[in-house]
Amino acid sequence: MLKRRCGLVVTGTGLTLFFLMAGSGWAGKGKEETSVASRHVNQERFWTTLQQLAEFGKNPEGGVSRVGFTEPDLAGRSYVMGLMREAGLEVRIDPAGNIFGRRSGSQKLPVLLFGSHIDSVPHGGNYDGDVGTLGALEVIRALNEEHLTTRHPLEIVIWSNEEGGRFYSGLFGSSAAAGVLPADIAARQDENGERLRDWLSRMGGDASQIAAAKIAPGSVAGYLELHIEQGAVLDEANIPIGVVTGIVGISLRTCTATGFANHAGTTLMNRRRDALAAASKAVLAVREEVRAGTGRQVGTVGWMKIEPGASNVIPGRVTFPVELRDLDAEKINRIAERILQRFKTISQEENVEINCTKPDFDAPALTAKSFQDAIRASAGEAGLRTLDLPSGAGHDAQNAARFAPAGMIFVPSRGGISHSPLEYTSPEQAANGAEVLYRTLLKLDVRLDGASPSD
Ligand SMILES: [Zn+2]
Repeated sequence: MLKRRCGLVVTGTGLTLFFLMAGSGWAGKGKEETSVASRHVNQERFWTTLQQLAEFGKNPEGGVSRVGFTEPDLAGRSYVMGLMREAGLEVRIDPAGNIFGRRSGSQKLPVLLFGSHIDSVPHGGNYDGDVGTLGALEVIRALNEEHLTTRHPLEIVIWSNEEGGRFYSGLFGSSAAAGVLPADIAARQDENGERLRDWLSRMGGDASQIAAAKIAPGSVAGYLELHIEQGAVLDEANIPIGVVTGIVGISLRTCTATGFANHAGTTLMNRRRDALAAASKAVLAVREEVRAGTGRQVGTVGWMKIEPGASNVIPGRVTFPVELRDLDAEKINRIAERILQRFKTISQEENVEINCTKPDFDAPALTAKSFQDAIRASAGEAGLRTLDLPSGAGHDAQNAARFAPAGMIFVPSRGGISHSPLEYTSPEQAANGAEVLYRTLLKLDVRLDGASPSD
């Protein structure tokens, strides 16, 4: 309901909008916010475009189901490409289905790349990805209005299949750009026999040329991404802008506890080798070891498979994952070592073997310090407070960091809710993010490669 109320509010003029929003309870502390007049981006235009994109794949709960490589995704992409062309961008699609929209610069320099994604999870919301993508478009519209030409060429990017709805786990398009997709990717099919190559060609890509989507280091001067936080830190602190210090690394192991499945009625308690009892101790050991130190590290056991899985049989085998995340790869390794030690002790206590696979490891990606500084300074100039924080969720920026210095700007997510139709970021909060994106880009345009503003 509240979302609808805000939707009505944006039909007013800019000035009316500001006061109405300030009175609506979503605008935060008035004195900390930038005023509409001092903004370069247009909050009303940005919000209207966000609501229009939300029509593609709209779900009954008020969010969107615009999963990558589906019809709603295709329709949303062509809608946004139309908007990009209207804004004067030269649009192209790479073999991995990533969309680029280019605006020329005044000098022969590598591009400044910025954007996000527009695909969603099933039953997702209207802000994850969309705020960053349409925020990037709003920056271009504002530059056009102000007849400003940057030194670097600017390119908006819409990464394909960020959420990994089909054919790949996630960050599909940016993984292609970073050259880290697995070798068998072009041959993948889903459970219904639909082929990735067919979907890619419908999207304007080409699976046989996917290696050519790799972006050469040096061709991009820097990458910026605006995104909703998807956590509650900014919302609870009532701070409008997050300066992302990095994107956490993820270590994922699959572990198996092997005991002995036997009759639940006739096997005495002291003769049991109960795999589930051992696995349960293991789950608590993961939590204790992750909590043992200070910091923001997190560890999760997200599922369990219990075999044979009958109420009258002692569990003989339990499979479960151990997922650890932190910005510091060394710390992840240290915690993992301690957890594996604990598993050894539990094995002895319970007479159950616990074995874990070698971990799949997504390395942490740190954002460039100079980009963090530029974001902080830009927010300050716009009258917006900032907070430094890591991203606990994966983002395309972590792949971009493999071929260019990268920075990320977060705006608050109400209640920290995301990947849900209840996901919400207010018009003012979204526009704050776009404003900081605008100012940061212009700062980097001047600062990168050390040229002076008059060049
Ligand atoms: Zn996202």
